[in-house]
Amino acid sequence: MSSSLTFDAVSHRFGAEEVLRDITLCVPESSCVALLGASGSGKSTLLRIAAGLLPPSAGQVRIDGEDVTAVEAEKRETGLVFQRPLLFPHLSVVDNVAFASRMAGGSKAESRRQAREYLELVQLADYAQRMPGQLSGGQEQRVALARALARRPRILLLDEPFSSLDLGLREDMYELLETIREQLRPTIVLVTHDRREASVLADTIAVLEHGEILQHAPVAQIHHQPASPAVNRILGGLN
Ligand code: ADP
Ligand code: MG
Repeated sequence: MSSSLTFDAVSHRFGAEEVLRDITLCVPESSCVALLGASGSGKSTLLRIAAGLLPPSAGQVRIDGEDVTAVEAEKRETGLVFQRPLLFPHLSVVDNVAFASRMAGGSKAESRRQAREYLELVQLADYAQRMPGQLSGGQEQRVALARALARRPRILLLDEPFSSLDLGLREDMYELLETIREQLRPTIVLVTHDRREASVLADTIAVLEHGEILQHAPVAQIHHQPASPAVNRILGGLN
């Protein structure tokens, strides 16, 4: 379940404010890029554009060469996980996940079966009948991940998914993401302002400042050969 994702000269304005400037970035199939930048640098906007939720002011995002804005919402092959999980409060855990699976085109029975499979993957099989209000923050975030996976996305877009969790839980989530990468091999964009998280989880890091990519390089290279003092500052100063 994988694909390449490319940003081709993407710019975006909110009114007079230029939030993204000429972003060109290629994320190869099954790789993981971390978008690292301070709050307000444009990370979430770039992710919303990649998800097809926001048409860019200029440029294009393509999945396997196809413009994401040309694809209907139900057919988009991206899964998005937000900083806050946003589960349906009136649906049980398994129904939250099955709902996403149904949206992706499964039958009712098939969706429930798949939902249970994904809950097993995120190690929440025993919590299937609980309501979201009965879960801890870390468990909710796992359900959100299972729900994103249930859409069988080729591209997984993660917007600071672990930032509200304490350190121990975050380490568990890192392991889970590794498992997902091994088993499902999606192409991943991980938005974070945590340099360590970016280094542990991603293959490459794209450093963003004021809507511009200052450098995009493999993790080791970005640490050993920062392209500018600004990159160095961002790598050193964000947490
Ligand atoms: P980040 O995720 O890196 O913190 P965002 O993409 O959320 O950054 O925001 C980048 C800039 O765009 C900020 O200055 C923010 O205030 C502005 N912005 C984000 N969303 C909107 C919106 N819907 N309308 C107007 N301005 C927005
Ligand atoms: Mg954000």
